[in-house]
Parts: sequence; C-alpha cells; structure tokens
Amino acid sequence: MQYDKSIKAYEKARNVIPGGVDSPVRAFKSVGGTPLFIKKGKGAYLVDVDGNAYVDFVQSWGPLIFGHTNKVIEKAVIKAVKKGLSFGAPTKSETKLAGIICGLYACIDKVRFVSSGTEAVMSAIRLARGFTCKDDIVKFEGCYHGHSDSLLVQAGSGAVTFGNPSSPGVPSDVTKHTLLAKYNDIESVKKCFESSSNIACVIIEPIAGNMGFVPADAAFLEELRSVCDEHGALLIFDEVMSGFRASLKGAQGVYKTVPDLVTFGKVIGGGMPVGAFGGRVEIMDKLSPDGPVYQAGTLSGNPVAMAAGLASLEQILEDEELYVRLEKKAKRLVKGLSEEAQKAGIALQVDSIGSMFGFFFNDAPVKNFEDALRSDTKRFAAFHQGMLQEGFYFACSQFETGFICDAMDDEMIDECLEAAAKVFKEMA
Ligand SMILES: *Cc1c(COP(=O)(O)O)cnc(C)c1O
Repeated sequence: MQYDKSIKAYEKARNVIPGGVDSPVRAFKSVGGTPLFIKKGKGAYLVDVDGNAYVDFVQSWGPLIFGHTNKVIEKAVIKAVKKGLSFGAPTKSETKLAGIICGLYACIDKVRFVSSGTEAVMSAIRLARGFTCKDDIVKFEGCYHGHSDSLLVQAGSGAVTFGNPSSPGVPSDVTKHTLLAKYNDIESVKKCFESSSNIACVIIEPIAGNMGFVPADAAFLEELRSVCDEHGALLIFDEVMSGFRASLKGAQGVYKTVPDLVTFGKVIGGGMPVGAFGGRVEIMDKLSPDGPVYQAGTLSGNPVAMAAGLASLEQILEDEELYVRLEKKAKRLVKGLSEEAQKAGIALQVDSIGSMFGFFFNDAPVKNFEDALRSDTKRFAAFHQGMLQEGFYFACSQFETGFICDAMDDEMIDECLEAAAKVFKEMA
C-alpha cells in the first residue's frame, strides 16, 4: 500500500497542529509509521487520502455502532441542520432522547446532556461531591474518564501509550483528592476508605476499554457497591464507551450491580459530540438551576447533535436482533484470532462483550492495568502494521478496545482472520 499522500498531509499538519493531531491517540506513536489521513468512510470501511480502503475496527473509537454514513442518521442530521444549528434554548428533541435513556436504565430518573464524555464525567464528579459534601474520589489504575484534571491520574489509553501516567499542568493540589485503587481488587478499594473518610464517590469503567479490553468481575462490582453503601459514597459507572455498546443497557445489561450515577458519550451521539450523565432524582435535582451544583454548556443538547443521537438510539431500539448479531461477529473475530495465534505459537489473550472486543499479546489472563502493561507492545506494533497492509484498521495501541459495527459481515471477519493468520506467521 502507498501512503504518500497521508505522509505529506501529516507533515503539513504537524506544522500547525501539535503532533499533527487533535487527540493524541490518533498519532501512530506506539506502532510506528504515520497516521492515515482519512478521506471518507462508508459502512464498515474507511478510505484514506491515498485511496486505500480498510475494514474499520475503530469506528471513531466507539460511537458508530451502525458503521459510517448510516442513512437514517445522515437524513436526521441534514433535516435538523436545515432548521438551525443551535438555539441556546430548549428543544423537544432533548426531552425525547433523555426519555429513551431514562426508560432503559432503571437507576436513571433524569439526565443532563453535555458535548463530550470528558464533560459528562467531570460534571458527574462535581455532582457527587456536591451531593455528598465530600471531596475525595476513588478511581482505578488504567481506567480513563476523559482528560479533566482530577481524573488524569494513571489514566490508561493515550496517557499510558505515551508513558505519561499523569500529566504536567495538573496541580498536585487537585490530584491529592484522587485516590487510586486496583481494578478487580476490592482490598485496594477498602484501603482507600481506610485512608480517607472524605470519599464522595468511586468511579469505574464497569467494562474497562481504555487499558485494552478488561471487563470487571461480577463479584467485584457487587462488593464495590457494598463498600460504597457502607461509607455513604456514590458509585459512578462510566459507560461513555460501554453504554449501548456492551449491550442495549451497557454494563447494566451484563451485570446486576446498580450504580448511583451513569455517564454516557460515544454511541448516544451517533457520531456527533454528545455526552450525558444521569441518576436518581434526588441526586440530579441538586444540579443548577433547581439545585446548587453549577453545570452548563452553550452547545449542550443542540438540535443537530440530538438528532444524530435520536436517530442512532431509535434504530437500536427498533432492532431486537442488533446486539445478538454484533456479539456473534465479535465472538467470531476473537475466537478466530485466538486460534490463528495459537497455530503460529503466539501467546494471545482475547475477550469480547457485545460489540466490544480486545486482545493482548500476553501469556497470562489480564485482570487489571498491571497485567495489561505486561503485554508485548512490540508484537502489537508488528501486528498493527501487518494488518494495515492487509486492509484492516485496528486502534493504534495495545491499550485500546476494538469495535464491531452492524455494517460488518461474516465475510469481512473471515477475511480479517485470513490476514491475521498470515501476519501472525510472519511475526512468529
Ligand atoms: C472516551 C471516554 C471518555 C471521554 O470521552 P470524550 O468524548 O473523548 O471526552 C470518558 N470515559 C470513557 C470510559 C471513555 O471511553
């Protein structure tokens, strides 16, 4: 494959944009080569500026559950655009989208919309602090909750890919309120509560996707719930990635544990910038203007973003078989990858839930961030480069999750497995 035009575009971009990208995970830092500049997407495929086409397992890092250029979303957005991009005043579409979310998640009476996952989590944390009148928060090593100051501690994803577990520019006065626990390890959570009586909330990705794909153990989430209750702390599920991805009800369709607050993003915007957070009425009513906890946004809930979100969620609700199909395809892919790796004598850990999947070049199961970091990133880089050459676009880091979209068919997956067999053989 030729990448000449991407290379040129990247050089130009680097002159005027730091690192040539607007989000660090897009740079191919950990896998080598230059990031591909994209011309367009169509269904399961991405097409770069050199005209190469790839089956896309990134899907904009999660939002595009139906794939690129979904006709229903496209139409809804164009219709909304013609009526005005933003009013800074309420529209009925916000109530409709909120109603869908409240209807599906039993623990959510009310939601508020924002424009990104980062904003959703940042606001949920403020609300939890305001509601409990406590300052400290507990997060888990390797979980990513957006790039707001207090959450940029051992944050996985881009932060770990670049070896900066935290970031300069974040005052330690802020992060001193962030206590770190180990994923799937309840003792480490109990220790946090022993060291502080000022904990407002515990925030977790119940199905972690930002240290690679690492689902929580069901028993661990249950224990987490009890520990929070015992100490009067709120439990926040960050479902920005897993919401409407792992299942129709995100992690809550997979586990029994019920959180106090939930954050959303990605799929609920259908490709437009939308985030949301929701919970029980007595918590949500602490938000301004009814309550004292301030939170706001000029473009929050704008009609174009809401139209995309509604068109996405309505299609999801109409299609009872959607998650069954997605899950089947994800299983076909990871099962095949595991078999091909085994044939080539390469140690590979695979897993999937719903339309989310992951694989680690690791000879032991991955239960937490420490385990994930023991993966062979050189092998991952070789795999990534090899698969790109074969026309398959995976996230450019070992510590990310892959996504199946409905536009993918079994044939694409089987072709991917054939390519993987070839790449594994070359790697071995
Ligand atoms: C992507 C993600 C975020 C941040 O969302 P943005 O829209 O990128 O700000 C937060 N939490 C989780 C779990 C995510 O996967």
